[in-house]
Order: sequence, then C-alpha cells, then structure tokens
Amino acid sequence: MLRSGPEREGIAERLGIDRDTAAKTLARVVRLALRYPGRFALATAAGLIATIFNLAIPRLLGRAVDQSQVLLKQAAMEPRLALGALGVTALVLLAASTARGLMQMVAGFHSETLGQQVARDLRLAYFDKLQQLGFDFHDRVHSGDLITRGMLDLEGVRGFIEVGMQRIIALTLLVAIGGVGLVAQDPVMALATLSFIPFAGWRAARMGLLLRLAWTKLQAQQAVVTRVMEENLQGVRVVRAFGAEPYEMGKFDAAAQAALALSNARFRLRSSSMATISSAYYLALALVLGVGAHRISVGAISIGQLAECLAFMTILQLPVRQIGMVMNSGARAISSGRRVFEILDVEPTIRDAPAAVALEQPRGVLRFENVSFAYPGAADTPVLREVSFTLEPGHTLGVVGPSGCGKSTIAQLVPRFYDVAGGRITLDGVDVRELQLAALRRTVNLVSQDAFLFDDSLERNIAYATPEAGRTRVRDAARIAHIHDHAESLAAGYEAQVGERGASLSGGQRQRVSIARGLMAEARVLIFDDATSAVDAATEHGLRRALAEATSSHATLIISHRLSSLMHADEIIVLQAGRVVERGDHAGLVAAGGYYAELYAMQTAAAEPKPQRAADRVSA
Ligand code: ATP
Repeated sequence: MLRSGPEREGIAERLGIDRDTAAKTLARVVRLALRYPGRFALATAAGLIATIFNLAIPRLLGRAVDQSQVLLKQAAMEPRLALGALGVTALVLLAASTARGLMQMVAGFHSETLGQQVARDLRLAYFDKLQQLGFDFHDRVHSGDLITRGMLDLEGVRGFIEVGMQRIIALTLLVAIGGVGLVAQDPVMALATLSFIPFAGWRAARMGLLLRLAWTKLQAQQAVVTRVMEENLQGVRVVRAFGAEPYEMGKFDAAAQAALALSNARFRLRSSSMATISSAYYLALALVLGVGAHRISVGAISIGQLAECLAFMTILQLPVRQIGMVMNSGARAISSGRRVFEILDVEPTIRDAPAAVALEQPRGVLRFENVSFAYPGAADTPVLREVSFTLEPGHTLGVVGPSGCGKSTIAQLVPRFYDVAGGRITLDGVDVRELQLAALRRTVNLVSQDAFLFDDSLERNIAYATPEAGRTRVRDAARIAHIHDHAESLAAGYEAQVGERGASLSGGQRQRVSIARGLMAEARVLIFDDATSAVDAATEHGLRRALAEATSSHATLIISHRLSSLMHADEIIVLQAGRVVERGDHAGLVAAGGYYAELYAMQTAAAEPKPQRAADRVSA
C-alpha cells in the first residue's frame, strides 16, 4: 500500500534524511553534466533513438506473429507473398536490433566521456579549494577524510553521470513511450503490462532513501579506513619502534570490518528490494498472459498484440533488474556529492579583502600591536595576550619562552595562517589583513622546525618557491644553509632524490634544505621557528654566521629554545603563557636576573666541559 505524504516525511525524518538537500545535491550533480551540453545531448539523443528502436522490436515481433497466422491461412494460395512479407519483417527486426546496439554504443561512449570530464572538473575544483582553505579548516578535518572525499566520493558522482543518469533517462523513456504505445493499442493490456510499475516505483524510491543512508554511513566509514591507513604509514617509524604492528592491525581490521558490515547491509537492502520488485514484475507477466488469453478469446486483441506485450515485458526485464543499480548509483551520487560539495562550499576564512593592496617594494617593517589570539574552536583559551614588538629591516628579534607559551603562534600569524583576534599586525604600516595574501606571503617567509620536503630532487626542493632560479642561486642558498657540501658528496649531487618527506636525509639535513628553500624565496621578513633544532651546535654556529651575513638587510625573527641561536639578536622577547614578560638585549636580560637569565645560566652550565672521569684520567 502506498503511504501518504506526511507518512513518507516521517520515514525520511526518522532516518535523518533531508529530502530537500538530496534533491538539490542531485540537481547540482546533473548541472555539472549540463556544463557539457553537446556531449550530454549526444548521449541522451543516442539513448532516445536506442529506446525507440528497442520499442520497435516488440511491435515488429507482434507483427511477425500476426503475419505468421496470415501466412498459415494464405500459404496454400499465395505462399511466396506471405513468406516475403515475413522475410521483410525479419529484416526490419534485424536492422532495428543492430541500430539499437549501435545507438547504445554511442550513448555509452558519450556518457562515459561526460562522466570523465565532469570528474576531472570536480577533481580540479576540489584540489583548488583544498589549496585555498586555511589552517583552521585543516586543523579540523583529517587529511584521510579529505582524500576519501576527493577520490572515492568523486567516483560516486562520476559513476552516476556515466551510468546512473543515462539509465534513468532510458528507463523513463522506455516506460513512457512504450506505455503510450500500449495504451493506444489496448488500454486493458497496457494496464496489465504496466501494473507492476507503481509498486516497483514505490519500492525503488524507498530503497533509494535507505541506500542513501547506507552510503552516507559507508562513506564515512571508508574515510575512517583511509585515515587509519594514512596515519599508520605516516607514523610507520613509531609503529615499528613500539612494536605496535598487532595493535595497528587490530585498529585497521576493526575499521575494515565495520566498512564491510555496512557494505553488506547496503547489499542486503538492495537485494531484498530487488527481489520484491522482480516478484512484482513476474506477477505482472502472469497477469499479461491471463488477461491476454481472455482478450484473445473474446476477440479484443490478436495473438500478435499479446506477443507484443510479452516482448515489451521481456525488454523491460533488463531495466527492471537495473533499478537496483540505478537507485544505488543515485543514492551514492547524493551522499558522495554532498560530501564533495560540503568541502567545495566551505568559504576560506583567510582570503584577500575586497580592496586588498599589494606591497610594491616592501621594506619589511613588521609590527605587532597588542596582538591577542586564540585558536579557532578554543576561543576561551587565549594563546597570545597583547603582544607588541617592532622588527625593522636589518634587525633581528629573538623570541624565547617555555614550551607551549605561543612562540610558533606568533610565527604563524605573520603570513596569516590565522588571523589575530585582537590588536593588529602590520607590514610596512599596512594591516596584514589588508594586504594581498600572495604579496604578503612573498614578503614573509617562514621556515619551521617541521621541515617538510617533497619527494623530488634536492635541487627542486630548494628551488620549490622559485623553479625558474638557476643552478648558481640554488648552490648559493645551499652554501649559506650549510647543505652544499652534503649535496656535493652524494653520487647524484643536487639531482639526488630525497624520498618521501625527505626520508633519505637526517633531521638536521632536512632542516638545512628547508632553510635554503626559505632563502631562495627572497622574502624581506624571515622567520626561523626552531628551524635549526636538529642541527648540531657547531654546524649551527657556522650556519648562523652565514645567515646573518646573507640576510643583514632583512628583518629576521628567530624563535629558539637554544639561546646561542638568538643571543645576538637586537631585541629578545620572553614569552610566558602568551604574554611578553621580559624584553631587551642579551646583556640586559641577563642582568635583569629573570627567566632569561635563569635559562642562560642553565644552558651555559650544561654546555661547560664535564669534569674528566677517573678512569679517563688513568687511561690518559
Ligand atoms: P614549543 O616551544 O613547544 O614549540 P610554542 O611556544 O611554539 O611551543 P605554540 O605552538 O605557539 O607554542 O602553541 C601555543 C599553545 O597553543 C599551546 O598550548 C598549544 O597547545 C596551542 N595550539 C597550538 N597549535 C594549535 C592548534 N592548531 N589548535 C589549537 N591549539 C593549538
């Protein structure tokens, strides 16, 4: 029994399905395909012609049956004429089948190409959006989830455009045109032939709703599987070091099992729905036979017309079997499309202001004016409180303080990885929020402790921001960063591949490559956030001297736990719990006897030579 509207709403609501959004999502997927009207029209037209040929087949078969009957009667009188008429029908039937096959091939080709083109557009738009989204977004959404959306979900959309959408069009045309033809011939037979359609439609719609929910759950779980695998691969060294393979295996197994269970549930749902739709179809077939026999007996229709109805039902058999696939494809497109569009619709929080300006010839005067900040989503935990300082070109500012006091946060606010919550940051007197992002990030270069390298050659990693720079500039930057000698010592030299995330380099080498990369960018403001933490003290000493020389006209901000890295700075600020608690030069801060002086005393004591052990003295 068909349920009334409000009751249907109830089911959707109970299942947490939003029909409005589903329709909008599907419409948006279809609009993507309509961006290629020529190809879409070709695919649809070919599908329509194939349907017409498909519908001609039952009619021709019916005619052949009637002709056979006439033939039986006429055979004695005009055998040649009757046989000829049947032969012509057979030839037309053959031609119609061939034309149908050809048109289906053309429709299939254009649908597939259309699907691939839309997938490519969507993939590019998705990747482009990921490039624009800020750190507040990336902090929130796991990269495993983003990869799943960009790969599996996108495939869901492509699959619908390629197969589902065209099948829906073909099935609708088949039933509509075929139905009209049948009604024109004999309404009673048409009613019997199409009697299963309302039930099948209702069942299919219900299946679509449930499948949509099943796909949403399954895709979310697939994102979990990707996430577990991605984290495992990224943390492979930690996993091995702790012998955590069985634990990781268990974690992955649980995620994969959950995905399998959801996939099975989806399949069961599809199979059970299809079983009832098929039963309805076969009941209708029996009804056609029964009603047909009666109509023939009362002389209302010919045997050929019954044969036509039966042939039409045979042609419907395949599309009916495909209802499951079509509904599955539509449901997947809705849940996948929603997941992809969800990302495409996120507005980047950090972007150019409408009248953003470019700094033509930046000097690089950086000023923090009472800057306060809390990370998005943690507004009640201020990380920086009223931080102020000025950094002039040719000067160096050191930032020191205990772990978690907000040092890196200062570094990340300058290139607008996040926006300040209070106060302002200016560059050459202009609020950074009023500058064009590209110009700002060209003017400021941040080299951080986590030296991420691309799986490429040393040369291309160093010249990442300036691929047009010549070899000489790359080598000059490498010399300053003290990585040149290492590059030269490699068999492949600067062409040596560094491996995934720079796996073939030591931590200190990676950091030095990253410093060389930062120098290549030729920014006016250089920020080194613990950028030499993994470099040994002796190498760092030489590196600092070379850097100071090469960047003497720049504004340089150095964040470090190692005071030897920043003690020569023109000004040093000490941060504690996000506040500047001490400021001055090295001598002044040591004399002040505060946190800095204590830290300095600790670090110099640790660096002093240890008394020789007795055993060493004896052996000496
Ligand atoms: P360290 O010396 O250990 O590198 P830090 O002084 O550089 O520490 P920050 O990285 O600036 O400290 O972090 C300051 C505070 O902000 C910390 O309490 C940290 O937990 C928090 N924090 C850092 N990054 C985020 C983030 N993306 N989202 C939320 N909180 C964050």
